[in-house]
Order: sequence, then structure tokens, then C-alpha cells
Amino acid sequence: MDRPQFVYSFEKGDAHNKMLLGGKGANLCAMTQIGLDVPPGFVITTEACLAYLDRGQLPAGLVDDVRAHIVELEVKTGKRFGDESNPLLVSVRSGSAMSMPGMMDTILNLGLSPATLKGLAARTGNPRFAWDAYRRFIQLFGKIAMDVPDAAFDAAMTETKRKHGVVHDVEFTADALQELAQAFLAVYREHTGRPLGADPYEQLELSIQAVFQSWNGKRAVDYRRQFRITPAMANGTAVNVCTMVFGNMGDDSATGVGFTRNPATGENVMYGEYLVNAQGEDVVAGIRTPKPIAAMAQEMPGLYRQLLELRDKLEAHYKEVQDFEFTIERGRLYCLQTRNGKMNARAMVTTSVGMFEEGLISKGQALNRINALLLEQLLVPTLDPTHEARSLAQGLPASPGAASGSIVFDADTAEQRGRDGEAVILVREETKPEDIHGFFAAQGILTSRGGKTSHAAVVARGMGKPCVSGCDAITIDVRERTARIGDAVMHEGDIITIDGTTGNVYPGRIPTVEAQFFDELATLLTWADEVARLEVMANADTPRDAARARAYGAKGIGLCRSERMFNDPQRLPTVREMILADTPAERRAALTKLLPIQRADFKGIFAAMAGLPVTVRLLDPPMHEFLPTASQLEFEIGQLRNLQRATRSVAELPDTLKLLDPELPRDYVDSLGKLQRSLGQYRETKRGDVALERREAMLKKVHQLSEVNPMLGHRGVRLGLTFPEIYEMQIRAILEAAAECSKEGIDVHPEIMVPQVCAAEELTRVKAMVDALRPEIETRYGVRVPCKFGTMVEVVRACMRAADLAQVAEFFSFGTNDLTQATFSFSREDAENKFLPHYIESGVLPDNPFEMLDVDGVGRLMQLAVEWGRKTRPGLVVGICGEHGGQPEAIRFCHNAGLDYVSCSAPRVPIARLAAAQAALKEREST
Ligand code: PEP
Ligand code: MG
Repeated sequence: MDRPQFVYSFEKGDAHNKMLLGGKGANLCAMTQIGLDVPPGFVITTEACLAYLDRGQLPAGLVDDVRAHIVELEVKTGKRFGDESNPLLVSVRSGSAMSMPGMMDTILNLGLSPATLKGLAARTGNPRFAWDAYRRFIQLFGKIAMDVPDAAFDAAMTETKRKHGVVHDVEFTADALQELAQAFLAVYREHTGRPLGADPYEQLELSIQAVFQSWNGKRAVDYRRQFRITPAMANGTAVNVCTMVFGNMGDDSATGVGFTRNPATGENVMYGEYLVNAQGEDVVAGIRTPKPIAAMAQEMPGLYRQLLELRDKLEAHYKEVQDFEFTIERGRLYCLQTRNGKMNARAMVTTSVGMFEEGLISKGQALNRINALLLEQLLVPTLDPTHEARSLAQGLPASPGAASGSIVFDADTAEQRGRDGEAVILVREETKPEDIHGFFAAQGILTSRGGKTSHAAVVARGMGKPCVSGCDAITIDVRERTARIGDAVMHEGDIITIDGTTGNVYPGRIPTVEAQFFDELATLLTWADEVARLEVMANADTPRDAARARAYGAKGIGLCRSERMFNDPQRLPTVREMILADTPAERRAALTKLLPIQRADFKGIFAAMAGLPVTVRLLDPPMHEFLPTASQLEFEIGQLRNLQRATRSVAELPDTLKLLDPELPRDYVDSLGKLQRSLGQYRETKRGDVALERREAMLKKVHQLSEVNPMLGHRGVRLGLTFPEIYEMQIRAILEAAAECSKEGIDVHPEIMVPQVCAAEELTRVKAMVDALRPEIETRYGVRVPCKFGTMVEVVRACMRAADLAQVAEFFSFGTNDLTQATFSFSREDAENKFLPHYIESGVLPDNPFEMLDVDGVGRLMQLAVEWGRKTRPGLVVGICGEHGGQPEAIRFCHNAGLDYVSCSAPRVPIARLAAAQAALKEREST
């Protein structure tokens, strides 16, 4: 043949050539060729489609080829196309190399005509079924092949229903369906100008042309443009012509769907349902309740055995759990379709381990087939999947998991109610470091402002608590203690449920399903660690978080944000004392009180991480974050002044009353006297004056500390160098805690990390503090305190001067939250709920860079910093501790960029372990 072959039977098509046969066609060929009983059929190639579109007519020889293949089908099935007693019916489907909704739908029952219909009715003994099949064919063929508007068929359907007094089409009798088919034929004639021909070959030819044309239909063109499907990915559509089989030909017929394993648990048992003497439509329409597949073992034991064989063949071939459709026609089992089964995270993990242990797949395949992000589902509580509540509003899914509780509007109330055992959800415009005790007490956090790297989001993620942030459909009235959430007005104490995995907020309590670290997950992650090169560390600030991270497999702490400890309500007054201090001596006095507290914190964390490194970052945020806001202070000062004025007025009240009537005070003498006495006692305590003075001093300090851009201001190492007492206290606390642990026999590996560094000299100076303190502490405790010294790399200049920084730093840790902010000049607190959504929707940026590492910009800076840093210090250890450290694609980038570790919040540790393994496997594949 000197022209290309345009038609392949399912037995002959190249199952690997999706470009030529389309995905569906290639799969039908694959199933046929591995010996599954697929109804006989053939595929018309995408090349034929392109030739048709090129010349506007079917390429020469195609029609003959199709006819020859139909004859083959007749031989295989014993039926004949257009035969009046035993007609061959086929389905016609489109199918390109990429799955593409918007392309042509399916035409079923092609080959039916008034004459063949009789044969079908007689063979099935079911005229109702035959008429039903016919009316479906007329509508599908009319609509798809001949462009008859659906609305015209719908109108005929409505009219017939009205006439026969039925609501659903399943209630139609055979006669009513016959009438409907006649009405449809009339619609067809009216819109096409001629009757529906009875020649099945003509029907088939028209259908093939319609499928080809649909490739250039508006819906398909738009879809390809939207999803950037290029001709190199899919060029033209194939046409699949497949023999119809029917599961409603009697009690030896059935239809069903199956999963080769249980998709909810991953258990190695076939799962699914079936209906005897039914067609697929019946299952979808819900008119009969299907039976569980296990029941087939009794009802049709022979066929059940065949189904088990089918299942084994599918898994042996696809090496993946399959979701398949089958039909049994007169005792013969056909597999109509199969695809990879969609499963929940637990089932994915369980089937990975199961299939490896059964020798079906390799460890690499077991690791690679799971989307690492799925694992998040396994470590947080999730909403009961059967719930039907409607959400009030949707914000950003900032920290996964679901929780219910009473609404509280401030951290103190959260703490009080939480202490009384009540489950609470802290609802705020945004959170601040001083709210930390509210986080501890709350089940979840909901904010109306802030993005996925806002304070609320980062802290909640670190603690593994659900958080929905930036939910701008919420307006909070703190004074009235109410919040409008979407259309509802909720009061403090009202119950809500938040889902940090989707960002939804619901009224009332929705049950949740608890997470658990099960054996198969532990096994899979051990395999991941064997393969991965990157180590996975955790971001953790408390002994509890550290212990959890360790349980999840973290190899140490990559970031302990030491300021989180300052925010404990019991410590905050001392921290404020330190900030309000006017002289270094006053500041030292406050720091002396903080020292033992910090030391104890570090000891707790070192103990929880015994044997593993703990990287403590010195104080980072600007000081004003530990003070109330100016407006809060101004409000309180106003209240206190009112109180003073009020007490003064009461003291003056007898004289004031005399102005009205000299006798008047006498009437009130008793009550006034009591009030005056108690207010006098109150004034003597000077409590009001002290409170007022304290707030006024604080306000003055807040004004002094106020900066236009605090995030670019007096924070991080800048703070540490201008108030060296603070860093000295922290360094002492770290070293003394390490020394005490050592003496108690706990194996400690402390590392000190400096934030916001832009110049090597900053590091040199902080290092000098460490070097000055260490010998004294070692001598005093009589133990050596080895401690690594390193830097955050989170400002652009740090990347540019990486070679200098590496002179002093033994390790780098990329703070990609700040580095992203600095690279884009986007405020991380504001961008995500201001312009970023618009930027992403309109395609200015492909993704949110605070979520997906910007490889081209931020990533490039990181590569330079790694290269230049290691030129100075070849053994330089490099990691990442920004939020991207738990994001699989960023982890792959870090692997390729030669980093040593990633550090992420505890619940992300399993994700990172799997992603690190997948990055290593990918590298192996490509080399
Ligand atoms: C960072 O900037 O990436 C980082 C880890 O520090 P923080 O989020 O505390 O600013
Ligand atoms: Mg930072």
C-alpha cells in the first residue's frame, strides 16, 4: 500500500502510539492485545483526520478500509451491519492523544433503523429497550453528526412526557418511547431537510466526518489554547468504532464497574458494583440499586472467576490499580474501558506498599506513583466526607486540616475558654505575635486578611493547626463581638467549622475524621529515605512541635524561630520591660530575667531532638511586634483618662449638687459617702495612675519604634548589632542549655543562625559574641559545647555576597519567604490578597511565588549563592527553611541545585521525605 494505513483493528494498532491512535484508541488496542475480551472494533487514525481537514473530504481509500473492517467485525460477532434479524450496532467516539473535554461526544447504537430495530427487539425480547436505544441514537446522531440543536429534541421530550404524564424518561412505556422516537425523527427531518437514512454505512461515514470536524470546533480550539496543547502534544483526533454490547439481554447479562483494589482503604480486594439485566444508564439514573461485586460470587460464580482473572490481567499489565467498566452479554464478559483508579491518600500508600510486596512494582515505582502533596491528607483531621453543609465563605487554604469550635475574637478569650475545655476558633482580621497564646488554645485560626505566608498561616502550619486566611467575606466587629461571614451574622460563642485544606468556612459543627500515622506510611517513607539525597529537617519552635516533627521522621530542626518563645503571655511583660528600657543597664536587667526562661526552652527542644541538630535562629522581628498597636494603646489611654475624670467628678459631686439645691446632697448623703470612700481608697492605690503611665510610656515607645516599612527596617541582625545585649542573652541561653544537656548525658548539636544578614561584617560581629561567650561557659560547666554558626540567606545582597558570607558561615539556610519578597519587591503580608490573584488569573505570573518557588528569579539567586558560597567553603552545608521547603516542586529544584537539606513544618515532613526521594529518582532516570 503506497498510502498510509488509516484504519487499525484493536488487535493490530500500536498500543504505544497515542499520537496516531489517540489515548482511547491506543488503550483499546492495549486491552485487546493483552488478551482482555474487548468488544471488537477498530481505530481510524489521526492522520486520516488531518488529511480530511486538509482537503475537506475523506482521504481516498478510507471508506473502503472502514467497510473492510466492518466486515471483519461481522465475522467476529456473527452479526451483520444493517441486518434485519441480527443487526451489528457500533459506538463511535472521538479520542486524541490528550484527553480533551469539549471534543465530540459519543454516538451510541449506530446501525439502528426502523428495520434493524425490529431485529433488536426480537433478539432481546424487549421492544422497550429497542425503542429506547433507537431514540437515543436519533438524538445523538442528530445532534453530533448533523448539528440538530439539542433544544429541539428537549422540546419534543418535554411534550411527550407531558402527554404521558411522566416525570423521568425511565417511566416511559415501550409505546411512549416509540412515540418519542417518531417525534425525534420529525425533529431530525425538520432541521436537516431530509429523513434520517436507514443505510448504516452512510450513518457511519457522516459520523466519522463529524468527529474529524469537531477537532476544529470552537470548544476544542478554545480548550487547546487555554491548556496550551500544541500540535506536538496532540494533532488531530482518532475515531474509535466499537461493537455495542448490551448487559440487558436477560438474566445472563449484566453491567458494572470495578476497582481492582478497594479505593478507600487500598486493601487488595476487588471492589465495585453491578446490576443484572441492565445497561450502564440504569446505574447512572439510579433507578435500581446495584449490588456489591462480592455478591456475584454466588449469583454468577463462573463469571465472577472470569472477573477476577480480568482484574489480575489488568494489574499485571498496567502495574497500577485500575478502575474498569464491564458488560456481560449473554454470559460473556467484556471489558469496555479501564483507567488508573483514583484513590484517597491512604489507599495510594497502602497499594504502593502492597503492590511492591506482591512483586508487581519496584520500590521506585511505589514511591513515584504517589503525588507527595496527597500525604498531607493523612496527617491532619479532615471533614467527614459525607457532610452536606454549605460553606458561608471561602478564604485561602492556609494550613490544612479541619476543626470546629466556638468563635472567639481575641487571644485572651481563646485562652480563657480553651482552659475551660471549650473548643474555640480564633477569628481575627489578622494575627500578631502577641496572639500566640490564642493559637495554643484554639482548634483553628480564621483571618479576614493576610496570605498563605502571613503570620497566622505560618504559625498555624508550624503547629499543625488548621487555618483559613485572607477570607475577605468576613467583617469583624470586635466591640459588638460579632462577625459577618458571607451572608450570616455570627456572635462570639457561635460554632463554626473551618477547613484549612479547601479554605471553606461552615456554620455549625461538622464531624471530622482523625489522622493517623499508619504502618504502610512508615514503610513507604523509610524507602523514601533510602533513596533521597536531601535530608528533611523541621521548622519547630517548641518541644512539642519538635517531638512531633521527629515522629514524622525529621532529621533535626532546620529553623527554630526563637522569638516565638517571647510571645508567651507570661513572658511578654518581661520582654516589654526589655523593649521599654531606656538604658543598656535597664535592658540587661530585663534580659537577666529572660535568660533562664530561654535556656529552659532550648533545653526542652534539645532534649526532644537528642542526637540531632537543632538550628536556633536569633531574634528576627522588629521590636514593635511585641508591643500593642498605637491605636489599641490610644483607646486604653482614653478609657483610663475617662476613669480618672469620673472619679474626680464623684469627689466633687456634693459641691456640684449644692449648685442645684443646697439641701440636695443631704438626700444622698449615705450612698454618696460610700461611693466617695471606696473611690478614695482606689485613688490611694494609684493603680489607675500606674496603668496610665505605663501605657503612655509604651505609646511613646511605639511612636519611637514606628517605621514606615518595619519589615525592611530595624529587625534581624540589625537589631542584634544595635542592642547586642539581646543577642548575647540568646547566645548564652543556647550555649548554657547545650552545656546543661551535655552534663545530663543528652547528645546535643546546637547551631546558631543569624537572620536578615546582608554583609559578612554582620556575621563576623555576631560570631565574635559566640566566640567570647563559649570559653567562659565551657569552663564554668566543664564540658565542651561545639556549636555550628551559620546564616539565613534571605536578602538579595546576601546571595550576591555569598562568597564573603561563607568565610564566616559554616552553613546557609535560604529564607525563601523573605527572599521571594525581596526579589519581587512584593510585600508578603499584602500581595496575596491584593494584586496577586489578578496577576495569576490574567497570566502575568504563572503562580503565586510565595507558594511555588520562583525558579527563574529566586531560584537563580539561590544557585548563584550555592556556587559562590561553596567556592569559598567547599563543605558549606546549604538548606532551605522558607515555606517552599515543604513544596514538592521546590524540593526537586533544591535537589538539583545541590542543597543538603530542606526544612519545613512538621506536618509537611512526610511530604518532603517523599518529594526528596522522587527528586532523586527523577535525576537517576535522566542520567
Ligand atoms: C523566610 O524568610 O523564609 C524565613 C524562614 O523567615 P521568616 O518566615 O521567619 O521571616
Ligand atoms: Mg525571614
